[in-house]
Amino acid sequence: MIKIFNLLTNIVFKKKQPVSIVHFLTNRCNARCSFCFINFSDNKIFQNELNLYEIDKLTKKLGSSIRNVSFTGGEPFARKDILEIAKLYIKNSLIQSIYITTNGSLPERILAFAKNINAFNKNIELNFQISIDHFPDKHDKIRKIPNLFKNCLTTYFSLRELNIPQINSNVAITVSEENYQDIEGIYNYLYYRKRIKHIKAILVRDEGIYKNNISKKKLILDAYKLLTNKIIKNLNVTKNNFNEKSLQGKIHQQKDIIAFRLIKKIAQHNKYISPCHAASLFGIITAQGDVYPCEILENKKIGSLRDVNMDFIKLWNSKKNFEIKKDILNNKCFCTYECGMSFNIIGNYRYYFDLALGLFK
Ligand code: SF4
Ligand code: SF4
Repeated sequence: MIKIFNLLTNIVFKKKQPVSIVHFLTNRCNARCSFCFINFSDNKIFQNELNLYEIDKLTKKLGSSIRNVSFTGGEPFARKDILEIAKLYIKNSLIQSIYITTNGSLPERILAFAKNINAFNKNIELNFQISIDHFPDKHDKIRKIPNLFKNCLTTYFSLRELNIPQINSNVAITVSEENYQDIEGIYNYLYYRKRIKHIKAILVRDEGIYKNNISKKKLILDAYKLLTNKIIKNLNVTKNNFNEKSLQGKIHQQKDIIAFRLIKKIAQHNKYISPCHAASLFGIITAQGDVYPCEILENKKIGSLRDVNMDFIKLWNSKKNFEIKKDILNNKCFCTYECGMSFNIIGNYRYYFDLALGLFK
């Protein structure tokens, strides 16, 4: 009870400890998407990934509010020790869920991971977000992996067929220059023909070496609106993008609907709506252990975990992070970063009524 009280106090008022972190496990990836933010020609980015010994230390120093870690990359399953990494998070920290973004190219490895984690701890929620952007041939071509679409489907369905409420899979469509003209057809193909009933939308954004084509921005946004409207309409039929039996799952579902609305508004009017809690409720850790408020503010490094003996909370409470947080709030920083949006919604009481509606759906 005290733990929950402290967690809620942190989320609503203090905002001093992270509730969720995104851990980029690696920059390695077997795909080469045209819109990827990673500069694959720079060999340095593949070196010096945090090792298990360092991750063991890190996971003991994530504070008392941490409830979720999101693994991403690169392709997180390119790390063969991903299972050990996940177990360290579960054993050493207070996380209750692990979200994983994957290109879905390694179905057997992903399924073995899910079964293993569920056997290790039945209460941990696992959510796999599999990226699909186009019809089969084009998807494989955009991501430059033969048979990728087929493997994405195998990954999605084999996880669903486990029929374990704590294990969920969904497909995320990133709306970009590559697919905005075909978005309705792609959605219909996935939902009706391939019977993928758990679909999310992501709006492509400028990041790393990828820059949007300005002249296409409006068209991409229109396609994003169309896609999110279709997703919301069909949510009445298919409720569970997440574990529909858990409180967390219901809140997540509703939070996605609010996030779609906010992202459309921010992208359309290019303006600030509400405070961002990057560097307070959420942050990111790079493959080499650098900590940032979010993926976008590449010039606002909070520090390196290796310089503080992997003590995450020490960096989080540093004077430097205090200044970064202040800057983000005072400058009314805004963007459409989906992960950030989630925590800006749960950390802002103006959205609580809307969130609570999700509990009655
Ligand atoms: S799958 Fe993801 S990490 Fe890999 S190249 Fe594509 S966008 Fe980049
Ligand atoms: S608004 Fe976006 S860019 Fe600014 S701090 Fe938040 S997540 Fe980062």
